[in-house]
Amino acid sequence: MGCNSALSITDGENHQQIEAPKFLRNAEHLIKKASKDKRRKRAPNRRKKIKASRRFKRATAKVSKLTRKVANLRQNWVHQVAAEIVSSNSFVATEKLEVKNMTRKAKKGKRKKQKAGLNKSILDVGFGMLRSTIKYKIEQIGGVFIEVPTRRVLPSQTCPKCGHQHKKTLDVRVHKCGVCNYLQDRDIAAAEVMLYWAKGILPWAGTALADAESSSSTSRTRKRAGSMRQMGAKKRQKSIEDFAKNELGDVETHSSGEANCGQFIS
Ligand SMILES: [Zn+2]
Repeated sequence: MGCNSALSITDGENHQQIEAPKFLRNAEHLIKKASKDKRRKRAPNRRKKIKASRRFKRATAKVSKLTRKVANLRQNWVHQVAAEIVSSNSFVATEKLEVKNMTRKAKKGKRKKQKAGLNKSILDVGFGMLRSTIKYKIEQIGGVFIEVPTRRVLPSQTCPKCGHQHKKTLDVRVHKCGVCNYLQDRDIAAAEVMLYWAKGILPWAGTALADAESSSSTSRTRKRAGSMRQMGAKKRQKSIEDFAKNELGDVETHSSGEANCGQFIS
């Protein structure tokens, strides 16, 4: 999930990006105008025993009608997108988003206005709502929904082909690996990393793990990352097996999780 395109989706072979809808952005000026009109009408005041004027009530209704319309449009969009994803996939991995943290206000300085605008776009798309709707729909059909721990996996800083980690700032929109020359859209590349992680088939995970345990020069952090990866892989394997067992009633489940067409949203 991002702000350039709202969604970047990949199943490992086919990629798709969905544009961010701008419900609030489009209706913003109407809402602003309506609220301004409302402020000019006689508001109720209990202490002074003033009742709201009829015009005030009408203006209030107009504002809430507009806000409700925006909310409805957003909800509609979320349901359509979620339904489309779930209709062709039963295994979805997505980023563990902290919408509350993401939309935290910038404290001061030049970034303040910029951050406020970004917050608005994040909330306008309704990422939180989208994620929970997908989760709900997936669980309803008995599929698997995996949240990838962003801080541990670092999907947007990792090459999905070779695992090389390179820090990108937010304005770098393209992933170009300095090691294996893999070129991909930043968000699609991150989506691939998360899909592979969730399936437990990161192409480089095995070697990184071996490195961490055999090489004496590896740092402590790397060792820890290795063991955590191992634990995560076990957990994932278990959930995939459980899923496969329930779905297929088959003991030969090892590869079925992988054979399942996974789809992932970054
Ligand atoms: Zn690479």
